[in-house]
Amino acid sequence: MEYKLTYKDYYEGLKQGKMLGLKCKDCGEYTVPPRMVCQECGSMDTEVKELSGSGKIKTYTIEYVVPDGFKPPLIVALVETDEGPWVMGNIEGIDPEEAAKQDLIDRRVKIGHKVITDVPFSAGEGITLTFTLV
Ligand SMILES: [Zn+2]
Repeated sequence: MEYKLTYKDYYEGLKQGKMLGLKCKDCGEYTVPPRMVCQECGSMDTEVKELSGSGKIKTYTIEYVVPDGFKPPLIVALVETDEGPWVMGNIEGIDPEEAAKQDLIDRRVKIGHKVITDVPFSAGEGITLTFTLV
């Protein structure tokens, strides 16, 4: 079995400003981040597609204890992409203290990325999704 879209390709796509996912040829749903099979129906008949790179905030939390490579506090959010799948990342461009006071649920965001280089337990770099309010 082969991955149609590897994590490496997914990361490379993000670095070029493209959000890649898998579109299922059986049920039409999208799978992001990449997996071997469709996350909706389990089909392996998928193709690589570029997503719009936007979505809306479904839930978020402000974390004061954060993983290595990140600066606290961090706004961690789950965003529903326009294509359907939910992805996790960090809301940027807004003060966490402000985010704590207002309701950001259902606010639309543009999805970007950030390369994390200061990750002591990982070989090399990591990448995380970022969300900017639009
Ligand atoms: Zn499917």
